[in-house]
Amino acid sequence: MLLIPCPYCGVRPELEFSYGGQAHIARPQTSASAEEWAAFQYERVNTRGPHAERWRHTHGCGRFFNVVRDTTTDQILRSYRSGER
Ligand SMILES: [Zn+2]
Repeated sequence: MLLIPCPYCGVRPELEFSYGGQAHIARPQTSASAEEWAAFQYERVNTRGPHAERWRHTHGCGRFFNVVRDTTTDQILRSYRSGER
């Protein structure tokens, strides 16, 4: 089981969290083309190594935050609040 460091609550077991997919995906403008909307909706990277992910502390503070996790080792390298780089 992963131990995930929530930037608001501290380290907690994985069971308290929900995975939210890839982090730092910008929503296109309303005037974007159908191809741009399709890319936003369906295209994600499949990184081998450090990968920025969105998580929610569902059974804790309820907040969203980001985690950088190495996909080859499942090791969490850092976590940070949404809006931070
Ligand atoms: Zn929390």
